[in-house]
Amino acid sequence: MRIVFLGAPGSGKGTQAKRLMEEHGLPQVSTGDLLRAAVAADTALGRRAKAAMDAGELVTDDIVLGIIAERLAQDDCSGGFILDGYPRNLQQARDLEPVLAEIGQSLDSAVLLDVDMDILMKRLTGRRTCSLTGKLLNVYYSPQEELDACTQAGGELVQRADDNEETIGNRLKVYREQTEPLIDFYRDAGLLKTVAGEGSIDEIYARLKRTLGMS
Ligand code: AMP
Repeated sequence: MRIVFLGAPGSGKGTQAKRLMEEHGLPQVSTGDLLRAAVAADTALGRRAKAAMDAGELVTDDIVLGIIAERLAQDDCSGGFILDGYPRNLQQARDLEPVLAEIGQSLDSAVLLDVDMDILMKRLTGRRTCSLTGKLLNVYYSPQEELDACTQAGGELVQRADDNEETIGNRLKVYREQTEPLIDFYRDAGLLKTVAGEGSIDEIYARLKRTLGMS
């Protein structure tokens, strides 16, 4: 299965993609994760991407195209993949087509995780990662035991550098202006499937699997 996840920052793309990866062995290909890894490793590419990421702007199309083409050509993507955070604008959606043709694959679905703006804000400002386990948590929504389990084991609840209110506002604006047009793009291509992205992670996952015909 070859899926693109669409949805605003905080819509749960990463969380749901990770779950599909764990349960169905589909690699989650997240340009955000790949870029953060490049920044953390202080590579030339990471240094080029960092300023845009810190400001909540999109990194240039040529940088992300290079990253995605290299990642999709790896063996583990040959049986399918979940694209999480790519494409982010119409140019990237067009750029993706020859990349997929090159590896002899085409998309099965573009899944939109649909979430109201006020919920997005809480998900983004509350989002944390446990420094020990990498588990994604949220100070507003995660059970207190799960938050405590991280800190009591000596971990820290780390906030992403771009999850501060100012950058979040810009990321949501960029989403509305540049990424939302992809909804019509994939609807016109007959690939769009919409999943209500509100409720618990389990509920959303069950809806997602039903929509994809996996349950
Ligand atoms: P994400 O983790 O998907 O929210 O991405 C975090 C940041 O990485 C974004 O705010 C952008 O600065 C950058 N980024 C991730 N994916 C892309 C993409 N497809 N195109 C351009 N920039 C991206």
